[in-house]
Amino acid sequence: MAESRDTCPFCSIDPKRWIASSDAAIAFLDGFPIAEHHTLVIPQRHVASLFDLDVSEQAEVWRLASEVRHRLADEFGIEAFNIGVNDGVPAGQTVLHAHVHVIPRVTGDSDDPRGGIRWVIPDKARYW
Ligand code: AMP
Ligand code: ZN
Repeated sequence: MAESRDTCPFCSIDPKRWIASSDAAIAFLDGFPIAEHHTLVIPQRHVASLFDLDVSEQAEVWRLASEVRHRLADEFGIEAFNIGVNDGVPAGQTVLHAHVHVIPRVTGDSDDPRGGIRWVIPDKARYW
């Protein structure tokens, strides 16, 4: 778990691993992916929550997430994604440098994908 910039795994990501970047945001492949091309988009500035960013930085993180999502669709024909933010430790955040998960999904990668992000609380996921 990253408490500060000094020990943060994302602040020390080798720029060679960046797949896209701008003044305010960086995208790189997740080191422990749950799907092929699982990508993280982070602000350049070390903050724990996306909502600690100013509005223009936040906009740039989402712009880069959009670029990554479109690139994955165009280059690899991926048609579905889970786009996720674990905002805070009780919500499952393990690296305290804000990030957006861009997780490609393909038909058949789970027995029943219905509910998607609702499965963060498995007992409550099913409403149908
Ligand atoms: P979260 O649980 O939302 O904080 O997600 C943290 C993500 O960071 C996980 O998906 C990890 O696989 C990923 N991760 C942790 N350490 C590294 C690292 N050194 N390089 C790349 N990805 C990492
Ligand atoms: Zn950091």
